[in-house]
Amino acid sequence: MTATTRTVHATPEQVWEVLADGWLYPLWVVGASRMREVDDSWPAVGAKLHHSVGAWPLLLDDDTEVTDVTPGMSLTLRARAWPMGEAAVHLRLTAVGTETEVSIEEDAVSGPGVLAPRPLRGAESDRDHGMTWDAVVVGAGPNGLVAANHLADAGWTVLLVEAQPDVGGAVRSDREVHPEFVHDTFSSFYPLAAVSPAILGLDLERHGLVWRRAPAPLGHPLPDGDWALLHPDRDRTAASG
Ligand SMILES: Cc1cc2nc3c(=O)[nH]c(=O)nc-3n(C[C@H](O)[C@H](O)[C@H](O)COP(=O)(O)OP(=O)(O)OC[C@H]3O[C@@H](n4cnc5c(N)ncnc54)[C@H](O)[C@@H]3O)c2cc1C
Repeated sequence: MTATTRTVHATPEQVWEVLADGWLYPLWVVGASRMREVDDSWPAVGAKLHHSVGAWPLLLDDDTEVTDVTPGMSLTLRARAWPMGEAAVHLRLTAVGTETEVSIEEDAVSGPGVLAPRPLRGAESDRDHGMTWDAVVVGAGPNGLVAANHLADAGWTVLLVEAQPDVGGAVRSDREVHPEFVHDTFSSFYPLAAVSPAILGLDLERHGLVWRRAPAPLGHPLPDGDWALLHPDRDRTAASG
């Protein structure tokens, strides 16, 4: 068995949000090259992630299943196609002030891994967790995310690093105004992104992206209570303000 403990500069709720989003699995699991599908019930017991492991062209399709879960606190997985067969992986989150201690215990439960003595299994697993990547992308803004995803889709193992607690760079959205209101933090209109072959190629609609068209993309309030509007209808733009 191998056990690793790290303190993460995030609350247990923030760490759990990542664990509870199955599509993020390749970002934190070494060797999971590409996510193919995530069961809707993830991370409930019995839910599966369907992924490919390895480096292109030697990709192996398999899955990882939740065997036990305490939301916000712990997650136990049975990971198939692990480098040494099949492994039980137990993750536990412990709040330390405003940070989180994340402990991960892994042990091979079937396949060639169980034939190795335990100390050797530890050594093998440590080697697997050595930082070797086909590409390292610095910055999870839209350009970094697109590049990292296209490389991962081509079978590369990719490490995407981001200095901020949230991904998205200057196209990030937030709920600072009201928890039920999602708003832009910087940029807001993406007419070229909507037709970009690089972004269309990611098939983001399959993962929940919905493009919306604002009735008036831009408005500026005036002291008299009126608005200067940029409206698709030229006459309404001219009449505003
Ligand atoms: C106020 C504003 C309004 C805009 N409006 C629009 C708009 O309406 N429509 C539009 O199409 N474009 C708009 N843009 C431009 C658009 O947001 C940028 O073109 C786009 O965000 C660039 O993407 P990027 O991935 O290259 O960089 P960024 O979005 O800047 O992302 C870079 C990321 O890298 C991270 N980073 C930087 N250095 C490091 C490091 N050393 N280690 C780890 N992480 C690091 C940063 O934290 C950041 O998350 C706007 C920009 C601004 C600032």
